[in-house]
Amino acid sequence: MKYYSTNRQAPLASLKRSVIKGLAGDKGLYMPENIDLMKDFVVGEMKDMTFQEIGCIIAQALFGDDVHVDTLDQIVKDTLSFDTPVVPLHDNIYSLELFHGPTLAFKDVGARFMARLLDYFIKNEGVKDVNVLVATSGDTGSAVANGFLGVDGIKVYVLYPKGKVSAIQESQFTTLGQNITALEINGTFDDCQTLVKGAFMDEDLNEHSKLTSANSINVARFLPQSFYYFYAYAQLDKAGKADELVVSVPSGNFGNLSAGLIAYWMGLPIKRFIAANNSNDVFLTYLKTGIYNPQPTVATLANAMDVGDPSNFARIMDLFSIYPNPYAAIKKRITGYHYTDEDIADIMRLVYKQYGYVLDPHGACGYQALIDDKLSDKETGLFLETAHPAKFKSTVDEILGTDIEIPAKLRAFMQGEKRSVPLGKDFAGFKKFLLSQS
Ligand SMILES: *Cc1c(COP(=O)(O)O)cnc(C)c1O
Repeated sequence: MKYYSTNRQAPLASLKRSVIKGLAGDKGLYMPENIDLMKDFVVGEMKDMTFQEIGCIIAQALFGDDVHVDTLDQIVKDTLSFDTPVVPLHDNIYSLELFHGPTLAFKDVGARFMARLLDYFIKNEGVKDVNVLVATSGDTGSAVANGFLGVDGIKVYVLYPKGKVSAIQESQFTTLGQNITALEINGTFDDCQTLVKGAFMDEDLNEHSKLTSANSINVARFLPQSFYYFYAYAQLDKAGKADELVVSVPSGNFGNLSAGLIAYWMGLPIKRFIAANNSNDVFLTYLKTGIYNPQPTVATLANAMDVGDPSNFARIMDLFSIYPNPYAAIKKRITGYHYTDEDIADIMRLVYKQYGYVLDPHGACGYQALIDDKLSDKETGLFLETAHPAKFKSTVDEILGTDIEIPAKLRAFMQGEKRSVPLGKDFAGFKKFLLSQS
């Protein structure tokens, strides 16, 4: 499979090149050139398959030209070694719990797949010494650091804003050691992102070493996220609930929703998507006005969705550019809602009280968007519960008056010793640090 850039000014790239480059030379995002339609009966048969079996079929369609089938199956099996169950909440509303992986957030799927794919390129296709840079407001850093831990030939640098990630999140990427270096930046998340972007543009740094991104701009992180849409459909299909499926996605950088659209393009019968936002709602404004107007980021309780200029908007525009009126086509397929911090707290309290279910602040937006979308009796609503509530323990406990248990996986990280390199937000200091690394 070849990958083109959404800006169409860069040459087509192989899978290997798109993964190692991250962003195309014209600053566009890579997209697969052919998205094969799955046959109806294949999707129908998935109701009796495991997550891993379904993942192997989808991976074959997306990456089968580039990686030998046995190797690809192994990569998928290693990646999907945990379940993503669909859990009924009430009426026709279901939660897709994507938080049973090692760092308890959905990003584990893409991060683990990307790490194993790069490992394959290093061992078999002569790729050497890759440096992965990742800016994080919390969840990306932990998923990427844990996915890449111990992979020979890859060094990971996690940039995070000092004092602005939760203690639990911080422990997940500062206690690992080995090939993972945490850079504690004296600035905001936007400053971290600016440093990473600056590094990709910097000629000296690119000459010094191979740099790539493990944010959802990378095809190896974004595309595997389509696996769990198929698996979720299969679970609901088995229960006879998949005929008119509406899927609500708590969205920040829109990698998750874009992966859902890829699944739809591959023939997964999803009736419509809902983009659930916090107060960072440029996408909702786009749906209402047809105008995309990036905004500075606003800090909210659902901090992994604090994105004012979502990178994957380019992918959504690209997918719908085949229609004569892309804006109308997008509005037909995707609706949107947004929630303030107050709304989020109210939603969490209500769902806890009425149904005994603990939502995390991101999932709360996804849940409420299904309610506000006023599903018909025939429709089934599925929201993506993107993180385990314990990742946001202090927020959740404060809102619900609970003392929720921290899963053993998380507790183990918190016992490790924190190690990080303190850096300022100036590019010169960051560059000097990277150049000092062999
Ligand atoms: C990253 C993240 C999101 C947003 O996903 P995008 O793909 O950036 O839209 C939502 N919830 C949680 C918990 C996350 O970590």
